[in-house]
Amino acid sequence: KHALMWFRQDLRLTDNQALTAACDWVRQHHAAKLKAIYITTPNQWHQHDIAPIQLDFIQRHVSLLAQGLASLGVEFELIQLDSFKDIPAFLTGYCEEHAIGRVFAGQEPEINERKRDQACIEAGIPLSLSDEHCLLPPGTVLNLSGDMYRVFTPFSRKWREVAAKQPIVPLGVPAPLGPILPEPKPLFFKNIGFADSPANKGTAPSETGLNQTISTPLISSEQWAAGEGQAKRLLNQFIQQKVQDYKQDRDFPAIDGTSVISPYLAIGVLSPRQCVAALLQRFPEVIVDDTSPGRTWLNELIWREFYRHLLVAFPDLSKGQNFNRQAEHVQWRNNRDEFLAWCEGKTGYPLVDAAMRQLNQTGWMHNRLRMVVASFLTKHLLIDWRWGERYFRQHLIDGDLAANNGGWQWSAGCGCDAQPYFRIFNPMSQSEKFDPDGRFIRKYLPELASWGVTRLHQPNQQKMPSLFEAPLLASQADYPYAIVEHNAARARALTVLGVLKKA
Ligand code: FAD
Repeated sequence: KHALMWFRQDLRLTDNQALTAACDWVRQHHAAKLKAIYITTPNQWHQHDIAPIQLDFIQRHVSLLAQGLASLGVEFELIQLDSFKDIPAFLTGYCEEHAIGRVFAGQEPEINERKRDQACIEAGIPLSLSDEHCLLPPGTVLNLSGDMYRVFTPFSRKWREVAAKQPIVPLGVPAPLGPILPEPKPLFFKNIGFADSPANKGTAPSETGLNQTISTPLISSEQWAAGEGQAKRLLNQFIQQKVQDYKQDRDFPAIDGTSVISPYLAIGVLSPRQCVAALLQRFPEVIVDDTSPGRTWLNELIWREFYRHLLVAFPDLSKGQNFNRQAEHVQWRNNRDEFLAWCEGKTGYPLVDAAMRQLNQTGWMHNRLRMVVASFLTKHLLIDWRWGERYFRQHLIDGDLAANNGGWQWSAGCGCDAQPYFRIFNPMSQSEKFDPDGRFIRKYLPELASWGVTRLHQPNQQKMPSLFEAPLLASQADYPYAIVEHNAARARALTVLGVLKKA
């Protein structure tokens, strides 16, 4: 019998528990060989609204993985199916045909992915899952009653307590299992529909009933260097040069102050253990010492784990459920024109618009701005957070269900441990505080290059429409007038979102 390594959101050779276990299994079984596969499921991906840029990034990494595996003497095959539901039957046949005695893979936290694996196990596929998408697997950071925390601070305290007790040492690349194989050709995913997928056309969420094209999401990920080596370089550069200033710099989008490793973490080119281990090398006390200069960044990695643990503990989150059920009563306005203006970066609020253009032009957005635009959509415009969540998913290279859902529900005030509904970001003061000289705004809104800095932080107020007046976009100007007036929008949000008040 032979072994099969099934790669999913763990597109790396280093620190890959499933791959290491598969190699060990092969070494322990006489004459056994290891094969490796990746399965494309374009139809499923469209249902999940994966951004074309993220798919392109995955495709490039699958090619690199095939090359890396060839150097370990492991044969790689790209399998092209349609949906998750096709996988159990396919794998049953594949295991028979290739005399596979064990299939190794990394666990994933999302509900459809877990159902897919369950269906494989029920079909008799000998699937061994290793839980490594988090440093501490879901279910291992619980409160005294054995339940998942609903608030971040006690979760993070417990997380550090548990993490401090274990060695945090990434696994190396497994030793070759056989002679080097010929270098495989670059692989291309078929039928992923870059030309005709709904995601590609950038259509609005189906709830809007709109067919208008918003902005076509980026397809090519070439702005992003690919490869495990590149991901490790970014991580190490950040740890060596920037992590000590992260606390001061991380909120300023014009400063290159965060790690920008999220695209690699989202598809598993980098593991969370590699990140924490790199941080520990520089700051060995970071987990136990509250004053360690590496602590703020560690906290962000713990937020990532918090949202993944939540997704597993509350599977309904994967289905777009409000964490706070009171939010079912929110009367979202869901104005389509306003949604389009937000998507295109035409709200007339420069910081919001520059942020949306960063997303549309690069496939990535700075964290401070994700919070600003999410607050603006859900509070100033009173548009259902799920519309924004879906738009992000369709455009982000680092799209990640747990973090995206968590971030959106937090911003809308209906999530677990959310920003309270009555805290409404003021886009003008956010702008003054976090882009004081307007450098970020000018980069993405070059049409405002001649505006003075004071004006850059203000909504474009000439001919401000009254709050309830549509349509909103001023076609006669290069830059649109503000689509809502801040104070009125704020007052309206407080009234409408008041239903989120805890009983
Ligand atoms: P750094 O600041 O260097 O942080 C290191 C890593 O920690 C990140 O790469 C990421 O994996 C993790 N992380 C940091 N902040 C958070 C956070 N608040 N929640 C969860 N994980 C975090 N992140 C995604 O990876 N994918 C998403 O789809 C996503 N959607 C978001 C939507 C909204 C509305 C908000 C408010 C946040 C979202 N985030 C998402 C979290 C965060 O904005 C990004 O992880 C971060 O901006 C990535 O940049 P970085 O790699 O430079 O992060």
